[in-house]
Amino acid sequence: MDAVHEKLKVIAPATGEQIGEIEETPVSQVGSIYHKGRTAFQVWSKLQIGERLKYLKKLKEIMVEEMEVVADIIAADTGKVVTEALIADIMPTLDSIDHICKHAENILNRKKVTTPILLIGKRSYIEYMPRGIVLVISPWNYPLQLAMVPMISALASGNTVILKPSEVTPLVGKCIEDLFRKAGFPEGVVQIAHGGKEVGAAFTKGRPDYIFFTGSVRTGKIIQEAAAKELIPTTLELGGKDPMIVFKDAHLERAAKGAAWAAFTNSGQVCMSAERLYVEKEVYSKFISLLKKEISELRQGTDRNADVGSMTFPAQVQIVKDQLEDALGKGAVLETGVPPEEWQNGMFLPLTVVTNVNHRMKIIQEESFGPILPIIPFETEEEAIRLSNDTVYGLNASVWSKDIQKARRVASKLISGAVVINDAIISVANHGLPFGGTKQSGIGRYHGDAGLKIFCHEKSIVEDRGRKKTEIHWYPYEDKYPMFLTLFKSYFKAKRNWLQFAKSYLSILKKS
Ligand code: NAD
Repeated sequence: MDAVHEKLKVIAPATGEQIGEIEETPVSQVGSIYHKGRTAFQVWSKLQIGERLKYLKKLKEIMVEEMEVVADIIAADTGKVVTEALIADIMPTLDSIDHICKHAENILNRKKVTTPILLIGKRSYIEYMPRGIVLVISPWNYPLQLAMVPMISALASGNTVILKPSEVTPLVGKCIEDLFRKAGFPEGVVQIAHGGKEVGAAFTKGRPDYIFFTGSVRTGKIIQEAAAKELIPTTLELGGKDPMIVFKDAHLERAAKGAAWAAFTNSGQVCMSAERLYVEKEVYSKFISLLKKEISELRQGTDRNADVGSMTFPAQVQIVKDQLEDALGKGAVLETGVPPEEWQNGMFLPLTVVTNVNHRMKIIQEESFGPILPIIPFETEEEAIRLSNDTVYGLNASVWSKDIQKARRVASKLISGAVVINDAIISVANHGLPFGGTKQSGIGRYHGDAGLKIFCHEKSIVEDRGRKKTEIHWYPYEDKYPMFLTLFKSYFKAKRNWLQFAKSYLSILKKS
């Protein structure tokens, strides 16, 4: 690195203390970092997949050994409680390594495809060819998982990776760099570019072969625009405003406990947190009492037993405050919490439930990313579906009912990348399921088979042994037109006429 460069001060959001300093990657190094990544690609992409997976297994071993250290770094850097660092950031990353190590070879192996009889004598198959350098740009809310899972997927598929982690949680970015270094990945295969949006923008313009972005809709659009100029393919994993629908026949105690967790885990800074709660009218009051009781028992703090941590990003506090003020100004009622002017506890916001809200309020239409939960009663299944689908987002949703047929019916009608029945959020924890959003929640999917295939060119190969002199569809065409008519009619009509097909095929062959 050059001698004098911007240093990022790292402040622990929960305590306000400085806990470190990170040197920014100078944008003057963009070219040399890409060059290094391209050179490394020449070797890395040619390794047998099993060889590449050995590095991932080593990475997993180191993460398991250092699990507590990593959990503490995540908790200090984000303000989330350490239990959540473990169960929602570290565990899914380790599980994705396991899943990839188990399935990657099969997913990325050459696949034979049936060849239609019209192409007699040929074979067809698909090959998966790594793209080159993948630029991963990641956010601060799950700073380990949302950086490492796309990195691991791209690496297993044979690409080299440049990660631009969030500047809001730079210690986790540094921790990821250390983990890959300790796992002994070859020089240039994984490179980390530390810094903020200027660094992200500079690397976006450095012509990666693929951009995998997780973050806000606003930045997603900027990145998509920059990528479009160079026709760089992207995956965009963006925001959410996830609905939770509670029917009167749900297990109400379970649904209330589930709502408290789904709305307030990670202080609500989850792209898939429950951000709007729709409760069937007959049980609305009862449900609110149960929910209030649950919330009254939650403990905010930084100690090992705390349930809810602090906010991570100071600017996010203002967004939550604005939404709540907008709602209260339009008649919303606080069921828990206090008005924003009475907030006193810095980055620990009151766990806030709001009623008397409607779909014209920001609190219902815009992503909150904070510990506030608006609740609306509904009367019919159709109404619940209509309200749930009425935002620009569509990332995840949950449906709560003991009538599983009804829950499935509703799930099928939600315009959403995922739906969880009688639980929330956890579809992301099954790495075999595709993950991604509809509408403004994103473009593309990862996890599952798609999570490896997106990082490859899917190449179609048709193979002929090359022993025949010619082909029937080659020149000359002379006199072939009526013969092809007979051939195709015999082949495509409802009842295939094989005798006529064979005869006309042979007569065209003779002419060829
Ligand atoms: P953000 O868009 O502000 O930043 C994300 C990343 O993009 C950061 O690393 C940032 O430095 C970088 N960046 C910002 N401007 C850039 C630019 N012009 N060019 C290149 N890079 C740039 O998002 P955030 O505040 O870090 O994260 C919160 C958002 O992420 C929320 O909207 C949340 O819903 C979303 N999110 C989505 C998912 C998902 O999987 N769908 C998961 C987590 C978070």
